[in-house]
Amino acid sequence: MDTDPVDPRDPEALVASAAPSPEDVRRMLAGVMDPELHASIVDLGMVDDVSVEPNGDVVVNIALTTLGCPLRAEIKKEVQSKVRGLPGVAEVAVHYVEMTQEQRTAAMQAARWNAHENAPSTEIAATTRVLAIASGKGGVGKSSVTVNLAAALAARGLTVGILDADIWGFSVPRMLGVEGRLSGEDGKILPNRVPVPRAAAAANAESEAEGTIEVVSMGFLVDDESTALMWRGLILTKALEQFLTDVRWGALDYLLVDMPPGTGDVQMGLARLLPQTEMLVVTTPALAAQRVATRVADMARRSYLKVIGVVENMSEFVAPDGQHFALFGSGGGAALAAESGAPLVASIPLEPALSEGSDAGTPVAWAHPDSPAAAAFHDLAAQIVLELLPPVEMAGCTARIFELATANLAEIDAARAQT
Ligand code: ADP
Repeated sequence: MDTDPVDPRDPEALVASAAPSPEDVRRMLAGVMDPELHASIVDLGMVDDVSVEPNGDVVVNIALTTLGCPLRAEIKKEVQSKVRGLPGVAEVAVHYVEMTQEQRTAAMQAARWNAHENAPSTEIAATTRVLAIASGKGGVGKSSVTVNLAAALAARGLTVGILDADIWGFSVPRMLGVEGRLSGEDGKILPNRVPVPRAAAAANAESEAEGTIEVVSMGFLVDDESTALMWRGLILTKALEQFLTDVRWGALDYLLVDMPPGTGDVQMGLARLLPQTEMLVVTTPALAAQRVATRVADMARRSYLKVIGVVENMSEFVAPDGQHFALFGSGGGAALAAESGAPLVASIPLEPALSEGSDAGTPVAWAHPDSPAAAAFHDLAAQIVLELLPPVEMAGCTARIFELATANLAEIDAARAQT
C-alpha cells in the first residue's frame, strides 16, 4: 500500500504528529499510584485500554476491582491530570470497566509481588506526594523555594520531607538551621527533624496536627563541597537511590526534592525510582534564565514527569514606599509557562527578609508569614494542597484485596520456591 508523504502544511497532519502515542500515555500513567495496593495502576493491570485520536483526544479504560469503588473519582482525576501533562493531549476521557475474575487475581498477585519485592525498594510510601523542585541554572532561588514551600506546607499541619540533592550547593540544612551528621537506627538513616515553631503553626494551621519537616541532605555525606563537585552521574544516581532506600522517612504527606540545576542523571534516576514524581520549575524574570529552564521542562516530559507549575522568583522588588522595581527584568515566568504549557503558579518578590531568614536558619514563611514573599509561599502551598497535588486520602475500595495480598506472602514464597 502506498503511503502519501505528510504535507507539513496540512493542519490535520501537524496535529496528528503532535499527539502522543498510546505507549506514551501508558508510560505517563505508570506514575499514578494506587495508594492502597502500593503500586502503579499500570503494574496492577488497571489500565485496560488506551486510545489516542489524531486530534489528541485520549480515552483511557480503567479496570476496577469493583465498579462501585469509592476511589474511582479520585483515580479519574489523577489519570486526567497526569495525561494532560503530556504535550499534544486535548481531552482526556476515562471510562471504567470491571475486572474479570482473572484480572482480579492478576492484580492481587501483582500487589502481593509488589508488597514482597518492591515495597522495600524505596522508603517512600505510595501515599506520599513527590515534588521535584528544579531549575535550569543555579542561583535562581530553587533551594529557597524548596525550603519555604516545605515550611508553608508544614505550617498547615502536614509532614514534609526534603531531600537536598543539589550537589552544587547544599544550602537546605543551613536555611533550616540544622547542622551536623545524620544519626542511624537499625541500619537506617534518620532524617533531621525540624518542627514548625509554635507561632508559625498558629498563624496558618488548618488542623490540630503538628507539622514537621524531615530533612536529609546529600551534603551530610561529604566533608567539603569540592568532594561533592567530583561526583558524577552514576555516583549521584547511586546516592539518590541510597537516600530513598536507606532513610527512614516515615509517613510523609509530601517529599520535596531539591534537584541539582540543569537536566540529567538525577532527574532520570528520580523518574525511575519514583515515577509518581511531579515537578515545579523555578526561574527568574530574566528571559535568559527562562530559556535554560525550558530545557528542564522538556527533559521532565521526556522522562514522563508532569510539570505542575512554574515559579518565578526574584520578581519585582517592592520598596517600603510602595514603588515597584523589576530588578531582574520581567516576563521570564510567563514565557516559561507559555512555552512549557504548565501554569505560572507563583511570583515570589525579591525581599531582604527572605535571604536574612535563610542565613538565620528560619525560613521567611515562618519568621514573617505576612511579608509579601512569605504570603506568596503560603498561597503556593494552598494551591498545591487544594488543587495541584492534594495529599492522598485513603478511602478504601481495594483495602480488602490488599489485606489478602499481604496476608499470605508465605504462600507466594512457597509457590515461587517450586518454580
Ligand atoms: P539556588 O538554590 O537556585 O542556587 P538559592 O535558593 O540558594 O538558589 O538562592 C540564591 C541566593 O539568593 C541566596 O542567597 C538566597 O537567600 C537569595 N534569594 C533567593 N530568592 C530570593 C528572594 N526572593 N529575595 C531575596 N533573596 C533571595
